[in-house]
Amino acid sequence: MATDILVIVPVEPPIAHFADSVVRQTSGGRLHMPLTQAFHEFEEYVGAALELYKPSQRPHFGGEMWPPVIGTKAADFLASRAAQPPRRTLASITLATHLERAGLRWEVVDPGMQELHYWRKRFEQARANNPTAIAICTTFIVCEPWLRALCHVIREVLPSTKIIMGGYYYAVNVKKFLALDADIFCVGEGEQRLPAIVQALKGQRSLEEIPGLYIRRPDGGTHHTGSVEQLDMNELPIVDWSLSTRVEPPIDPIATPVATWVETQRGCVFSCEFCDYRTIQTPAVMTTDRAAEAILAAGVSPRGSVRITDSTATFPHKRWEEVLQKLIERGGSKAPLWCFARVSDINERSAELMKLAGVQHMFIGQESGDQRVLTEMKKGTNVKQVRPAVAALAKHGLNATFAFIHGFPGEDDASIQATRTLIKTLNDGHEDRPVALLYLAQPLVLFDLATVSQRPEMQGVDHWMAYDNARFPPQRALAEVLQTVMEVSRIPHAPAYLLMPGTFPGYWEEYFFFSPHRYEVFRWMKALERGVAIFLERDLEGTKPNDAELARLKEQILARREAIPVWRSRAERMAARAQRLVVQRLTREWTNEGKTGPGPLTRGLMGLSVLRDTRNPQLAREALKTGVYPTLGTVNLKESELDSLAADLRDESLGVEHRRRQVAAARKAFVPASALSRRGPNGEPVTPGASDPAENDAAT
Ligand code: SF4
Repeated sequence: MATDILVIVPVEPPIAHFADSVVRQTSGGRLHMPLTQAFHEFEEYVGAALELYKPSQRPHFGGEMWPPVIGTKAADFLASRAAQPPRRTLASITLATHLERAGLRWEVVDPGMQELHYWRKRFEQARANNPTAIAICTTFIVCEPWLRALCHVIREVLPSTKIIMGGYYYAVNVKKFLALDADIFCVGEGEQRLPAIVQALKGQRSLEEIPGLYIRRPDGGTHHTGSVEQLDMNELPIVDWSLSTRVEPPIDPIATPVATWVETQRGCVFSCEFCDYRTIQTPAVMTTDRAAEAILAAGVSPRGSVRITDSTATFPHKRWEEVLQKLIERGGSKAPLWCFARVSDINERSAELMKLAGVQHMFIGQESGDQRVLTEMKKGTNVKQVRPAVAALAKHGLNATFAFIHGFPGEDDASIQATRTLIKTLNDGHEDRPVALLYLAQPLVLFDLATVSQRPEMQGVDHWMAYDNARFPPQRALAEVLQTVMEVSRIPHAPAYLLMPGTFPGYWEEYFFFSPHRYEVFRWMKALERGVAIFLERDLEGTKPNDAELARLKEQILARREAIPVWRSRAERMAARAQRLVVQRLTREWTNEGKTGPGPLTRGLMGLSVLRDTRNPQLAREALKTGVYPTLGTVNLKESELDSLAADLRDESLGVEHRRRQVAAARKAFVPASALSRRGPNGEPVTPGASDPAENDAAT
């Protein structure tokens, strides 16, 4: 029987970053490659491969291998298709829930990180069911060349299937989103509109009557069907996680420990300039009863966890407390909870309630340790709120990941140093049981729909990492991130770096945050991080490695590993050396690429990647010659038409009318009118977060 809709949820693999020349020249060559090089050198020193992807290389805690081996095969670049942790996205289950309710014949593929040849094979398989449409959720993609190539493969393999582009890539780059080779662009919430689009494609209704779509006309032009209203979250059905066994690859959350996700509010009333969560949606909330019900309903994986994906679960305080109280009244969540939080929302009482309700870990976007920069960002929090928040979390045994941006406009040496000092001292006083287990430090990522992109110094930038003419360009920010990694590594109880190559702690969060051995895992990760940083310090600062320190770290690392025979240690040492030399070469090529063009190794790898992705020898030859990933999967729209469509879409998310809708929605949802209608010194409307951090409290 024919399939009505094939939904795919691709997570871009590392090759997507390699295919993007801006990424290669910035975060690739100036952050990840130098760290990877130092990582391999530390492996060489230890005489053992340390990447966690391969089970045989994993440490043991409490007598068990960590992380445990569960899951499906990863993308090729991840240690030759080792098992990746089982993941199920909220997007896949939400869309499956609504397609099922609409009585449509659906297939949803949600396989985690996979490469294009995986997808090609899956599309070839789909031919047998001749899907009417294929919907791409772009939420987990930021590199456009790879996304374009994905569209190209679909056109090649399923030429008569309509392509529906959904998800949030449009927030990354509006113009590139609209230039993709798709038939329908669904901007915003898809729960009700995706089934409606499929019904329209089956001739049961008109596409024109579905708002918020950009429809490609046969002449190549694009037609917009008008703005769409935000959905009432209380009227949406609770997401049906039992459908996870019908999504590919099937994951039974009862048998397999997996993170399940739940969303109880959308949008955000704060005004952080670097953030697009607040611009792509207007605020909407579930009632607190409904929210508690949804959170408990998501707890279907007895050994898993529940992630509350609300952009700010902890705000407004009163609502959060009510949700927590309702969870507590119902016995608390059996599965540990994870949520996004602001330091301004954490105090003794909220921490206690969180503990009782089942919250174990939170992600705190602290962004800076400098008040001037926080104000510049319109973050709406105060640096002074960090220490009391950490103390409250420590008292109740809760943990957190803290995130920081380096290089927001207005940043200077002193503010970066203040941020670094904050990270280094976050866990002071909590050395035995650190609160902050991980930290993320990264340069400003300039998404189109974040208001910082409208600043004069960011005008004309068409890639999230290409603001080279800004006062604090990405190259400088990346150097500062490396400096932060080195300095934080020297403090054994400071949080571990989330993006450390090889171990990549962020990848294994489910097994880390909720493990009874999390503090032992933390110390092991810190030992590894320090080992890597010692070689980084030598490479960047010329510091001679301390032999005694290295020997101690080696002992600490190997004490958790199964002993390996001498021959294997030699082989792993040689493999580490070979990898280090390749990475060293690529680092040199990528950092010089702006001046000399792609180097020979980059061109060789590009040719191979293109051959594998496209199966087209001519394109591969061209890529081998130029080092450029081919331009695939875009349509020849008139530049003026594309500009005008992009301007409209930007205006829908950033314009005055959007702001008005947001304020009205926030007022309706949860913020007293008095807080939202407050006026600034010049009579301008002030929203929470736009000025005084104390407004957070006023707004509740
Ligand atoms: S608090 Fe700031 S960073 Fe967090 S979702 Fe809201 S606007 Fe974005």
